[in-house]
Amino acid sequence: MKFIDTHAHMYDSSFEDDLDQVLKRAEAKGCSAIVSVSENLDDALKNLELAEKHKILFPGAGLFPTNLDIGQAEEMYKFIEANREKLVAIGEVGLDYWKVQEEEKREVQRQIFKGFIELAKRLGLVLNVHSRSAGRHVVSMLIEHNAQKVQLHGFDAKASTATAGVEAGWFFSIPPSIVRSRQKQKLVKNLPLTNMLVESDSPVLGPDPKKRNEPANCTIALEAIAEIKEISLNKVAEQLFENSCRLYGKVPVC
Ligand SMILES: [Zn+2]
Repeated sequence: MKFIDTHAHMYDSSFEDDLDQVLKRAEAKGCSAIVSVSENLDDALKNLELAEKHKILFPGAGLFPTNLDIGQAEEMYKFIEANREKLVAIGEVGLDYWKVQEEEKREVQRQIFKGFIELAKRLGLVLNVHSRSAGRHVVSMLIEHNAQKVQLHGFDAKASTATAGVEAGWFFSIPPSIVRSRQKQKLVKNLPLTNMLVESDSPVLGPDPKKRNEPANCTIALEAIAEIKEISLNKVAEQLFENSCRLYGKVPVC
């Protein structure tokens, strides 16, 4: 079995001491690539460094949606443009209406997100999207701006909201926390297998919220999907690997 972890934060300080072992454990489970997204410029720089050292890592760069600093967003746009050849994704970016509640601030959030959508289209990069309590708004913005290569990570909206994304040909990445989330189980039940990916979102969204998550745990999400869809684990893994490659053609393991 092989898989691609399509959303993780491998620069996180919790991996500082044992990243080698964490990556070895992932490989032993069948992981052939990990997309490491960023939350700010420091993370993005660290991702580039790590990707030089560890061939399994593929860097993404983006600004976490609760960061409303236009100056930082503009710096990030420039960074992405300058490093476009090394990056596989713009992320994580998106909308978070859980943390950001004032309309004025949400407007800034949408403005920054719009910039990332346009940039992803222009550079042909995957948009690795965060949405929290903002599923409908994220979907309508992506449609309005005709986003092309879209991955919705940890999507927390209703399955019916996801339908428009399926019709647009987007992908939804499923984390190991599915084992403790009714909402994610429902989402998987309703999504076609052809529009699903697997992700760890390491170090969070693991099967046990109190423990550090790691890419090897993607197999837990694959097993849960297999069970819900009543399809063999191998078939699920094979289809999701193919989906990952349809989206991330740039990753050489495809
Ligand atoms: Zn994340």
